Order: sequence, then structure tokens, then C-alpha cells
Amino acid sequence: AAKNDGKNRYEFYQAHFSEALHARLNNEQAIRNAIEMDEFVLYFQPRVDAVTGELKSLEALIRWQHPVRGLVLPVDFIPFAETSGLIVDLGALVLEKTFQQLAQWKALALPLVPVSVNVSAKQINQGDLISILNSCIERHGIDVSLLEIEITESSMVDDNLLVLEELSAMKNRGIKLLIDDFGTGYSSMSQLHKLDLDVLKIDQAFTRSLARGQKGEAFFKAMISMAHALGMHVVAEGVETKEQLELLRALSCDEVQGYYISEPATAEEAAVLIKRQFLLPGSRSRTEQDLG
Ligand code: C2E
Ligand code: MG
Ligand code: MG
Ligand code: MG
Repeated sequence: AAKNDGKNRYEFYQAHFSEALHARLNNEQAIRNAIEMDEFVLYFQPRVDAVTGELKSLEALIRWQHPVRGLVLPVDFIPFAETSGLIVDLGALVLEKTFQQLAQWKALALPLVPVSVNVSAKQINQGDLISILNSCIERHGIDVSLLEIEITESSMVDDNLLVLEELSAMKNRGIKLLIDDFGTGYSSMSQLHKLDLDVLKIDQAFTRSLARGQKGEAFFKAMISMAHALGMHVVAEGVETKEQLELLRALSCDEVQGYYISEPATAEEAAVLIKRQFLLPGSRSRTEQDLG
């Protein structure tokens, strides 16, 4: 019984501790302070051609480099940022940092690789996304075609005209549009049809069930043939194994992203990946190919 008491007490303290921590991270002042102290950083995860492994794009993923807690993942602060409206300022910061990074890689004479940025519907609704973008493009001297926008399927659910209009304005400027976490958001086909989308990113839950057999495979097959018929490319998210990659190739999935290829990397690590260009395990590097 004593042992059990100890365990319960431990669990109580654990829950209590993380609750308190959660409260400390998730208040407006804490996040504003972190913006002020420049504690938010971007990591970059490659998206590659499923057959050749060629780097197609890097996805910018935000992290909070907290002085006490260390690296805090989006799940611990993005939901609060969304409900509190702080996502508008945080999103503008992510765009600014993305363009800073593109300019830095350009200054290092690295090959130009597009970066995709996750954008929330609230950010489009409440922030002046187009003018923030224009300002970034002008100040950093980066071509607009190097930017891609990811919007989750779930933010397309309500018939939000403003979001649709802003997205088509971006599309008309030459920015690629990607639908993120596809298959989890219950959007209707008619909703998606209103936009000229470039890429469907199939949620990692489907990739996980792919290894298990028939249903996951049938889902991918159907989504890929629909996307291809509409002129879209398909990305499988969360690819962790060689078996998943091989199944996806057999289904003509265009691109893949996931730990099997690379975890989200720091800007310095990403520079190495950009130089390598071909990122599937076993694929030859640019230099190896140049050498013949
Ligand atoms: P997302 O855009 O769907 O990003 C993919 C998430 O899956 C990332 O988590 C990534 O680290 C993780 N992931 C990638 N490959 C694998 C894999 O093979 N296995 C597993 N288990 N996970 C994998 P992360 O970085 O924690 O981001 C989570 C979510 O937070 C993102 O999902 C995105 O919705 C949101 N987010 C991240 N950065 C931003 C941002 O700058 N703005 C906004 N609005 N949302 C962001
Ligand atoms: Mg994303
Ligand atoms: Mg996703
Ligand atoms: Mg996600």
C-alpha cells in the first residue's frame, strides 16, 4: 500500500507539475516575452521525390527555445496561440524568419530550395497576410516562387470566403498551395474544388496504417488517383520505414516526408541537406554524381 501511495503521489505531482508548467508557457505575456527575447526558432524538414529522393522543399516548423524547459514543440503552445489570437503575430514572425533564412542560404550561394510555411486560417482572417508577404519579399530580395503555403484541411471546413479569397490571391502571385493533414479535416470536395491547389499532403495517420494492409492502401490509391486527375501532386507525411516508402512508390505517390528521410533539422543541418540534394538513404549525393 505504501508503494502505491508513493506512486499515486508521484503521479499527482507529475500532473500538477505539468499543469503548472502548461500555465506558465501558455499565457499571453509568456509568449509575447518569448517573441521579444527572440526565443522562437525554425527547424526545417525536407520533402523529397519518392523515386529519386531529390529535395523538393523544406517545411518550416516552429520551436520555442525555452531558457528553462529547452526545446518546446508546437503542440505545447500553438493551440493556445490559436485560441488567443497570438498566432497572428507568431505567424508573421515565422514568415519573417523564413525569408531571413532564404536570404542567408542565398548569400551562401546554396542552390535555391523552396520553403513551405504552415499558416492558420485565423492568421489569414485577422492578419494582413498579403501585405506582410509583400514586405518580406521586398526587404529580403527573395523570389516569391520560393515560398509555399500549407493550410490544414480542417481550416477549410467552414465556408470562409475571406480565406478562400486570400489563398487564391496568393496562388495568383505564384505561391504554391498545399493542403496539410489531408484526410482528417472532413472538408468537402466542393470546398477544395474552389481552390487551385498544388499539393495534397496525406496525414501521417494514413501512412501509419499503410503498413498494416488493405484499407490504408486503398485510401492512398483513391486519393492519389483523385489528386492526379485534378493535376495535384501527393505527399505522404510521416514516412518512417523502407516498407512504407516502397508501398507508396508502387502507388505512384509523388513525394514523401518523414523520419525515414530526415527529422526536422536545424538551419545548419538543413544547409548540409540542401548541398546533398538527394536524400533517400542510399541515394547518391550531388558531389558523387558530379564525379560520375
Ligand atoms: P504539420 O504541419 O503536419 O507538421 C508535421 C509534424 O509531424 C511535425 O511536427 C513533424 O516534426 C512531425 N513529423 C514529421 N515526420 C514524422 C514522422 O516520420 N513520424 C512522426 N511521428 N512525426 C513526424 P511538429 O514540428 O511538432 O509540428 C506539429 C504541428 O504544429 C504541425 O503539423 C503544424 O500543424 C503546427 N506548426 C508547426 N509550425 C507551425 C507554424 O509556424 N505555424 C503554424 N500555424 N503551425 C505550425
Ligand atoms: Mg505542415
Ligand atoms: Mg501535416
Ligand atoms: Mg499535423
